[in-house]
Amino acid sequence: MIIGQGIAGSLLGWQAEKVGLSIDIYDEGALESSSAASSGIINPLTGPKYVKSWMIETFMPIARQVYRNIEVEIGQQFMSDIPIWRYIKDIKAENVWDTRSIDPSYERYIGKGGDKAELSDIWPDAHRFGIVSGGFKIEVPIILAALRKKWLSSGTLREEGFVESDLFMAEDGSYQYKETGYKHVILACGYKGTSSKLFATAEYAPFKGEVLICEIDGLPKDRIIKYGKFIMPRLDGTFWVGSTIDHNTVDLVPNKEKAKILITFLDEVVRKPYKVIDHIAGIRPATSYRRPLIGEHRKHKGLYLFNGLGTKGISMTPYFSQQMIGAIASGSTFEETKAFQSAFQV
Ligand SMILES: Cc1cc2nc3c(=O)[nH]c(=O)nc-3n(C[C@H](O)[C@H](O)[C@H](O)COP(=O)(O)OP(=O)(O)OC[C@H]3O[C@@H](n4cnc5c(N)ncnc54)[C@H](O)[C@@H]3O)c2cc1C
Repeated sequence: MIIGQGIAGSLLGWQAEKVGLSIDIYDEGALESSSAASSGIINPLTGPKYVKSWMIETFMPIARQVYRNIEVEIGQQFMSDIPIWRYIKDIKAENVWDTRSIDPSYERYIGKGGDKAELSDIWPDAHRFGIVSGGFKIEVPIILAALRKKWLSSGTLREEGFVESDLFMAEDGSYQYKETGYKHVILACGYKGTSSKLFATAEYAPFKGEVLICEIDGLPKDRIIKYGKFIMPRLDGTFWVGSTIDHNTVDLVPNKEKAKILITFLDEVVRKPYKVIDHIAGIRPATSYRRPLIGEHRKHKGLYLFNGLGTKGISMTPYFSQQMIGAIASGSTFEETKAFQSAFQV
C-alpha cells in the first residue's frame, strides 16, 4: 500500500510493479502536490559556490535510467538534457566560478561557452555567464498524469484520502486498511505527512514556493537561465519562472505579492514581451535535518516513511525508491537515510 502519488509515490509504485509486487495507491489529489509545481531540474551544481549537489553522482545515473525507462513505457518524452546558464553578476562570483572551472573533479559539469553576446538582445548589460552541463530536466506533470491514468484504469489507484487512524497493525506484522490486508505500507504524503502520528517525532520544515508559467517571445528554448531564480523552457513552448521561498505559509493559494516578486525578476532579466498564463504554488516537504526521511518504522516492521525530499525530490527519488522497493521485494534490510536514523533513534 502506497499513500501519495506525487513523484515519490509514483516512482515507488512504478518500481514495485517492475519487480512484480502487487500494489494499491491512495491519493487524494495529485494536483495538490509539490511535484506538480516543480521545475523538475536535475542540477549537478548548486548554490553561490557552485558545489556539487549532495550525492548527485549517485542520483544522476539512476535518475536518467529510471526516467528513460518510464518514457519508453508510457510512450511519451518528458526528459531533456539542457545546460544551465548561470548568471555571474560580479568579479567576486567570477572568481568562485573560475576556481571551480579548473577543478578536475568538476570538469564534466562545467560547460564551454557562455558568451554573453548570445543573450545580448534580452540582457544587454549582462556581466557574464557560466554554463553548468551534465544536468537534465523532467516534465513531472507528464509522469504523474500518465501513471495516474494507467493506475486508474487498472484499479490500482484509489482517489481518496488515507486516514491513518483506520490503519490496523496485526500481531503478525501485517496491516489492514478497510477490507484489504497489506504486507507493507509506505507513507509518501509530501508536506501533508507533517501531521502523521505514525512518524510523529520527525521534524519537518516545509516551505512554500510560487511559480509563474509564461509565454516569452524570442527567449532561447535551448537553455535554462538562472539568476537566483530560474527561467526554464517547457516542452509546450512556455517558460517556468520561479520560484519564491516562503517559510511562514503552508497553503497552496497563489499570492499576488509573490507573483510581483517574480514579475520584477522577469523585468530585470528579460527585455522581451512576455505574458503570464498561470501562477501556481507548491509546498516543498523539507526537514530540519536538510536531508530526506526514508526508512522503516522502528516498532512497526513493514511500515515505511518516504518523505522529506525538500528541494531535490525529482533528483533523489529514483535512487531511494529503487533501494526501498529492492529491499522489500528481496526481504532484505533497507539502509535508512542518516536523517531518518537521527529522527527515530531508539
Ligand atoms: C516550486 C518548486 C520547485 C521545485 N523544483 C525542483 C527541482 O527543480 N528539482 C528537484 O529535484 N526538486 C524540485 N522541487 C522539490 C520536489 O518537487 C519535491 O521534493 C517533490 O515533489 C516531493 O514529492 P513527494 O511525492 O514527496 O510530495 P508531493 O509531490 O507533495 O506528493 C504528495 C502526494 O500525497 C498525496 N497525499 C498527501 N496526504 C494524503 C493522504 N492522507 N491520503 C491520500 N493522499 C495523500 C497528495 O495528494 C500528493 O499527491 C521543487 C518544489 C517546488 C515546490
